[in-house]
Amino acid sequence: MSEVRHNWTKEEILEIYNRPMMDLLYDAAKIHREQHDPNVVQVSTLLSIKTGGCSEDCGYCPQAARYHTDVEGNDLMTVNQVKAQALRAKEGGSSRVCMGAAWRNVKDGPEFDQVLDMVRTINKLDMEVCCTLGMVTENQAQRLAEAGLYAYNHNLDSSEEYYKEVISTRGYQDRLDTIDNVRKTNVTVCSGGIIGMGENIEDRAGMLVALSTLNPQPESTPINALVAVEGTPLEDQKPVEIWDMIRMVATTRIVLPETQVRLSAGRTQMSREGQAMCFFAGANSIFAGDKLLTTPNPDVDEDMKMFKSLGLNPQKPFTKKVQPQTVEAKDSQFEALGEKPKWTRPEHKIDRNEAAKAKGKLVK
Ligand code: SF4
Repeated sequence: MSEVRHNWTKEEILEIYNRPMMDLLYDAAKIHREQHDPNVVQVSTLLSIKTGGCSEDCGYCPQAARYHTDVEGNDLMTVNQVKAQALRAKEGGSSRVCMGAAWRNVKDGPEFDQVLDMVRTINKLDMEVCCTLGMVTENQAQRLAEAGLYAYNHNLDSSEEYYKEVISTRGYQDRLDTIDNVRKTNVTVCSGGIIGMGENIEDRAGMLVALSTLNPQPESTPINALVAVEGTPLEDQKPVEIWDMIRMVATTRIVLPETQVRLSAGRTQMSREGQAMCFFAGANSIFAGDKLLTTPNPDVDEDMKMFKSLGLNPQKPFTKKVQPQTVEAKDSQFEALGEKPKWTRPEHKIDRNEAAKAKGKLVK
């Protein structure tokens, strides 16, 4: 059985990434089979519960208020709207609902209370609930845990060095601090990144060093291929080559052997054969639904047809960890602290974002 190591070096990871493809596939598939059922794939549905108008400057994101994109902003959904979507996702074979809000960080108050209600509601549908709400304090993570949250997503996006090229409004350490806050609860950690943002292979390896040296390693890791959206600073990036995606998935599987590796954004650009090779290389989770927050995704029927032709089965909820207990709001041990945590705001100094500004695409 392959051991979980927390001392991977960039050189070791680069050696894996650059192996001849057949060796890499074989090595990754072997580890995959030791740790997981290779014919089971976890299906998550990503739901944008609050869209657009974000104060951050993530260079890939059409929801940043400063970029002119076609994304229409929406206020926070109601609990009933979310429940209806969760039921539809369950019927479509999803075991997990991941709720995303375009926030820099969670603020205590009525909107967060509403999200906590959503978490309780979906947990009671016997589905795994995940949230991706930006940076959270330890107290907020505890309140989410009490509501019955199964996972919290907070991506590292890239290596620490390349992160600065893409995002300037918060630092890498802020990301790590949020992951650390989640880790202090019994909520599982979902953290991964994006390839195709102009980073080099060393950056991809650097991100895997950062993820693999977390102890424990994240329970799930999304690997996204950039969907270049018009109006964002990364709009001109070329689509990721399928071989790069397969190499990234296989390398992730080897350095994070127990983690669920999720094919996330960019699946519409991949053939079924390409996705099948990713599953062989160790991917064992997908995002389902016709949209991933704001970018396109294959429709659920297409995915289920692909599962059938590959003999894959959707994973049942709570296969990896028992269902969290939901504590009702009135019984909560954790109150809103109304903290104003000091997340960093490094100086804005990104060439790409300056270029967007020059194009008149920046809104003040
Ligand atoms: S990725 Fe999240 S934090 Fe960054 S701009 Fe988009 S919504 Fe905001």
